[in-house]
Amino acid sequence: MRVYNFSAGPSMLPLEVLERVKRGITDYNGTGMSVMEMSHRSKPYEAINAEAEALIRELMEIPDDYDVLFVQGGATNQFSAVPLNLGTKKRKADYVVTGNFSQKAFEEGSRFVDAAVAASSADRNFTYIPELNKRSFRKDADFVHICYNNTIFGTRYSCPPDTGDIPLVCDMSSMILSQTVNVKDFALIYAGAQKNIGPAGVTLVIVKHELTNSPDDKCPVMLRYDNQVKNKSLYNTPPCFATYVVMEVLRYLKERGGISQMQKVNERKAKMLYEYIDSSGFYVNSVEKKYRSLMNVPFVTPDKELDERFVKQAAECGLVSLKGHRLVGGMRASIYNAMPEEGIDALIAFMEKFKKENA
Ligand SMILES: *Cc1c(COP(=O)(O)O)cnc(C)c1O
Repeated sequence: MRVYNFSAGPSMLPLEVLERVKRGITDYNGTGMSVMEMSHRSKPYEAINAEAEALIRELMEIPDDYDVLFVQGGATNQFSAVPLNLGTKKRKADYVVTGNFSQKAFEEGSRFVDAAVAASSADRNFTYIPELNKRSFRKDADFVHICYNNTIFGTRYSCPPDTGDIPLVCDMSSMILSQTVNVKDFALIYAGAQKNIGPAGVTLVIVKHELTNSPDDKCPVMLRYDNQVKNKSLYNTPPCFATYVVMEVLRYLKERGGISQMQKVNERKAKMLYEYIDSSGFYVNSVEKKYRSLMNVPFVTPDKELDERFVKQAAECGLVSLKGHRLVGGMRASIYNAMPEEGIDALIAFMEKFKKENA
């Protein structure tokens, strides 16, 4: 039996994608082998690599002066790659700290450049996004780094900050492909695949071409964007199978009407869940409404023991991985693209039943 999996990542994939992958598992497209067994220099694999890139470009309307890369090491590797490639002019970078991952990005950046915290929402346990304007940043910073959706705390930007001429770098790991964004607002976008794009193992980087050409001398070759660009992400053995599944997810998204259609569904899903929580008189989500995430919805019951019971009983009903992150406690429902609306209905029905039994 398939469960509704509310995991923050790795997370649910669309059943239809899994079925397609299954059909090709021993014989992909008449090659007599699976993508796992295929040379990354072969024609069929090159076609997969090229189609994945073309579909990302189409779905996100990525302008031609941006490169699209599929690399390894997760979003976390980009915490190092970004300062090593973009932080080489003035060797200064400004970070907006809105949660755990942006804090980690800042700490890693500090090892390579003069990194500063331009603003932070730590004062209220990351339940909001700070107001930002051009004056929030040092004029000579090489880049500004933000995390668009805070996976652990359940906040997101309502729009990207205006950084003027300073390149804006954005960790979109937990919201990419869930809503439309204007790629031109960003100099670089990165995202680990395992939240909303596909399986773990591959990381998407979208970077303005002109910013790829001045890496630090000591930048490891695998982290150099110019090297990955030149080699079409095939400098060494790439995570072939993960990229293949990404391609199937992208085909699926395109068939379903693309990102704007996903956004409509995601907005409906999130609205239903937040409205239920707010009207329940039992469950609480403490994020400022304006900054509530479409993808990650943390909530608590009135006491910690009930939270534990909730997680356990929900799992028995096929609603799994609802335990909140240890930094926040309580519960967290991650409702990425692959979570169907029926999953939200089932969660709300369970929440109502649990409330009646325990209030
Ligand atoms: C999950 C996550 C990360 C870490 O991703 P890895 O691929 O595990 O390195 C970074 N940033 C955000 C916003 C995330 O959600």
